[in-house]
Amino acid sequence: MMTGKCPKCGNALERVNAGRVNVMTQNQVAWIGVTYLCPFCSTILGVGADPSELKGEIGHEVADKIARLSMLKP
Ligand SMILES: [Zn+2]
Repeated sequence: MMTGKCPKCGNALERVNAGRVNVMTQNQVAWIGVTYLCPFCSTILGVGADPSELKGEIGHEVADKIARLSMLKP
């Protein structure tokens, strides 16, 4: 397995730690994000959308659409 290095401390990374972060737009929480942290020095290596939050949101949207469609049926 090829491992990358932390840009700050230079340690080879075979794993990273994940943290949660609020992603804000105009002072309001727009969604929950995830941070990827170096396990040695806690430098943030990246921020992205939280996959488990996204999965939940997609599930709710699909359920809402199905509920609306079933109300249209005679
Ligand atoms: Zn590091």
